[in-house]
Amino acid sequence: MPTPLLRSLSRPWTVVAAAFALAVSLLVAVPANGAGAATGCRVDYTVNEWSGGYTAQVRVTNLGAALSGWRLTWTYDGDQHITSAWNANVTQTGQSVTATDAGWNGALPSGGTAEFGLQGTWRSADPVPADFALNGVSCGGDGTTPPTTPPTTPPTTPPPATCGDAVLCADFEDQSGQVPSGNWQVTAPDCQGTGTVAVDTAVAHSGSRSLRVDGRAGYCNHAFAAATADLSTTGPVLYIRMWVRHTTALPAAHVAFVSMPDSSQGGRALRIGGQNGALQWNRESDDATLPAQSPAGVALSRPLPTGSWQCLRFAVDTSAPGLDTWLNDEQVPGLHADGVPTQDVDQQWLSRTTPPRPTALRLGWESYGTGDDTLWFDDVAVGSSPIGC
Ligand code: CA
Repeated sequence: MPTPLLRSLSRPWTVVAAAFALAVSLLVAVPANGAGAATGCRVDYTVNEWSGGYTAQVRVTNLGAALSGWRLTWTYDGDQHITSAWNANVTQTGQSVTATDAGWNGALPSGGTAEFGLQGTWRSADPVPADFALNGVSCGGDGTTPPTTPPTTPPTTPPPATCGDAVLCADFEDQSGQVPSGNWQVTAPDCQGTGTVAVDTAVAHSGSRSLRVDGRAGYCNHAFAAATADLSTTGPVLYIRMWVRHTTALPAAHVAFVSMPDSSQGGRALRIGGQNGALQWNRESDDATLPAQSPAGVALSRPLPTGSWQCLRFAVDTSAPGLDTWLNDEQVPGLHADGVPTQDVDQQWLSRTTPPRPTALRLGWESYGTGDDTLWFDDVAVGSSPIGC
């Protein structure tokens, strides 16, 4: 079983809105070897890609003699990693991929076609392969570059870190007491344990104040500061930026540190937190998670580093299924939902097609089992335009 790619990379910043909508279709036809050849093939490899993932529909046409079984091979020039396939048995070793027929679609008469699909992830590049071979015989194109359409490159200019016209913009410098007041109110929407929320003057990302949460383990141990800002008309894409610092690695058990009442769930929460040591989204009403909590899914998320300030950004599309997450300008592939269900990532999440409609923001701690943590939040902003770190 190949290990999911985890190496870090320096990737141009992608604008949230573009990343949401980015579904670039690439169609490549690899021509057959010379006319009249006894063997030959044509491969149409159609890619639907987004930042971090892709699906591909592969159609192979046999231009040679009839085959009773087929095997299509190719080499990825990028860092594509196939996570699943259908209508073929697909294996990947390094960059080499072998797809064999699924049995029922093995017979390929001269001029006949077979189709199969696959999905996968990529980090730094996902060019269309150029060296297809059917049953060991090249489909042509050797030494030539197939006519690819390069993916649309989103603008690389990061959005401003300033609040701009954000609906909510909090550096907590206006908090004079220890108890959050004014634009922030302490709340425990479901149930209250021993967790606390306070204004802290010892640790801050900006100025001299931040919001400190002493989160405590134990089922239903909830403590939040709720912003009074009404977010119910912010959008259509809700952009959230926050600086977070915490002391204890995310536990195996489910926890949440951001909770947004969501009118699409009848007021139940759209939550951001962790499980199995990595960041995750959770939908309270059906307990769906993003990514799926499979080992492959968790590996596509990231831990929240401890002991230093981390910039977290979220984009919540309220008009179409779409969620995105950045940790310090890295788009986290496992925390990305789009319209294409991807196994281990957003397949479960997309089982609900009604987009979320957050109406407010709460920062704090919810534990449903184990997991003590102390967290600080600072420089929190929510608006209808992307907000940078
Ligand atoms: Ca501050």
